[in-house]
Amino acid sequence: MRYVLDASALFSRHIPENNCYITPEVVLEIKDQRSKDAVEGYISAGKIIIRTASEDAIDAVQIALKTTGDNISGPDMSIIALAIDMDATIISDDYGIQNVASTIGVSWISPKTEGINKVLVWKKKCVACGKIYNSTYTDSCNVCGSELKRIARRK
Ligand SMILES: [Zn+2]
Repeated sequence: MRYVLDASALFSRHIPENNCYITPEVVLEIKDQRSKDAVEGYISAGKIIIRTASEDAIDAVQIALKTTGDNISGPDMSIIALAIDMDATIISDDYGIQNVASTIGVSWISPKTEGINKVLVWKKKCVACGKIYNSTYTDSCNVCGSELKRIARRK
């Protein structure tokens, strides 16, 4: 079993003994010096291996993002993409990552919480009349002209 970790998983102290991978994007995201030192320690001890995700896998993640309407960061995308490349399980507490991973069929586990048990899809809802729109819709409500709010819906 191989695992791809995000930053939250790295510092959860619940990481597997070996076969842990992270992406260079995640390493760059770590700003705190003590955390950086801790990660460098893991890397030099061979507990964590840095690997770059393929362009094809990044493309697959971007296509899935259009379906779910999730808005996740570049490092988060790289984590999911690397998990596709390596047929690995993602360890992350991030709902966005978990949601997109579920959509693509990548398995994930959460280091702390139970996570989501069903795939969430982002929609927009009119604050006044309640009409539901796709997350890509950017105008105000076409029925009453009110503002739209982003909501998560179970599929
Ligand atoms: Zn409305």
